[in-house]
Order: sequence, then structure tokens, then C-alpha cells
Amino acid sequence: MELKGQNAIVTGAGRGIGRAIAEALAAEGVNIGVVDLNIDDAKETADILTSKGVKAVAVNGDVSKSDSVKEIFDKVIKELGGVDILVNNAGITRDALLLRMKEEDWDSVIDVNLKSVFLCSKEAVKAMAKKRYGRIINIASVVAFTGNPGQANYSASKAGIVGLTKTTAKEYASRGITVNAVAPGFIMTAMTEKLPENVKEEMLKTIPLGKFGTPEDVANAVVFLASPEAGYITGQVIHVNGGMYM
Ligand code: NAP
Repeated sequence: MELKGQNAIVTGAGRGIGRAIAEALAAEGVNIGVVDLNIDDAKETADILTSKGVKAVAVNGDVSKSDSVKEIFDKVIKELGGVDILVNNAGITRDALLLRMKEEDWDSVIDVNLKSVFLCSKEAVKAMAKKRYGRIINIASVVAFTGNPGQANYSASKAGIVGLTKTTAKEYASRGITVNAVAPGFIMTAMTEKLPENVKEEMLKTIPLGKFGTPEDVANAVVFLASPEAGYITGQVIHVNGGMYM
């Protein structure tokens, strides 16, 4: 895939799925702006990437805050020279049943998971529209489609991402920008590690392929959508879930 020399911003790339996406894009020769709340994690990812021969800049930032997002884009564009690919991956969970869910947990999940996609996409579109080329890939979730008890905030944020993906795709197709989403199922990362064993066992029974996904499974779909070969695909959701939702 002809991605060599392009520049990407990957949010939440300090660990988990975001780091796997950054590594997979770097393997194709893409320079990466590694964005994370945790600067030590971001630097660790950036070191891995530079050892693979691409440019990588670690940026400490909170993608739910507009001032921070502007600083992130300014820094990456200054150091890498532009942005061709944006992967909106940063996300959090604050699970509780609806009646017990605190308002601040609703707000923080919506802000980090959904508002961040709005803020980062705005900055990315400004840069991409000038070049009349761009790829935006948003990380949604299977629960946007199925719902999940205890995740009113999270499932709403991810369903919101799907609507935002389609609208942004329609608004900026004429500028050569494609906007798609990847909806992972159950992927082995720190986010799912904290779930109780019995919940994981029940979850496994719902997956036809009989195993949990890896961050690399998600990264492979992202690299495809980022590639020039995916240029006729926009406003779509690719499900990476072992068949747990069809
Ligand atoms: P993870 O291991 O918890 O990693 C998330 C990363 O995002 C962390 O490095 C975190 O930084 C960073 N982050 C959190 N809030 C941020 C903010 N405001 N600004 C910048 N960075 C922030 O999660 P993951 O499992 O890799 O998930 C990645 C994405 O995939 C998320 O959007 C998640 O919802 C989605 N997803 C995951 C699964 C799954 O099964 N794992 C399934 C479906 C969808 P800190 O370390 O500082 O917190």
C-alpha cells in the first residue's frame, strides 16, 4: 500500500489499540503524531516507531478540550509537515447501570469519546481540505449497535461516532476526504482486562470465531481504510468482532 511518507495523528496511542494502530501505520512508512494523556506512554510508543525508521512525535494532550486539540495539531503539523490521516482512537469507560450512573461519568465519557472526534476532525479537515486529500478513521464499538447493560454513556458515545462519521463523510467527500469507522468487538487491552473473569467467559460464548480479538486485528482494518486503495469507501463501518454482531 502506498502510504510511505504520509503523516498521521493517532489519539490515545500510548498503549492498547492506539499503539497497535500507530505501529501498523509506521510499518507502512507513515510518520506518526502520537497523542496521549500520559506523556511517558506516548514517548514509549514514539521510541518504538522511530526505531522502525519513521518520524514520530509524542504529544501530551487531552483530546476532549478544544485548546489542547489545537495545540496538538499545531505541534504535529509543525514537526511532521502536515496531516494526511487522523485516527480518533482515544476512549474511556465509566460503567454503571443507568439509575446509578453519575452525571459526571456521563459527561466525561461523551466528552472523551465523542466530543474529541468532533474537535479533532475539525482541525484535521482544515489541513486536509487544502490538499484535497485525507483519511479520517474513527474507532467506534460493537456496543453502538447492540447496546450493553452498564454502558449507557459509552454505547451512546460510540453510536454518536457512527452518525458523526457519516455526516462528516458526506460534508467533505468533495474535498477528497474519506471518513470511516471501525467497530471493534471484544479486544484484549487494559480496557477489557479489568472486567471480571465470569463476564469475560460469558462474552467469549457470544463470539462465533471463539476467541477475543487483538489490537493488531483492529489495526489491520485501520491501515486498509487509511490506504489509497480504500479511496472509494466512505461513510462506512467495518466491524472487527469475530462475528459477535453481524
Ligand atoms: P486503553 O487501553 O484504555 O487505551 C486508551 C488510551 O487513550 C490510553 O492511552 C489513554 O491514556 C488514552 N486517553 C484516554 N483519554 C484521553 C484523552 N482525553 N486525551 C488523550 N488520550 C486519552 O483502551 P483500548 O482498549 O486500547 O481502546 C482504544 C479505543 O478502542 C477506545 O476508543 C475504545 O473505546 C475502543 N474500543 C475498545 C474495545 C476493547 O475491547 N478494548 C472494544 C471496542 C472499542 P491514559 O493511559 O492516560 O488513560
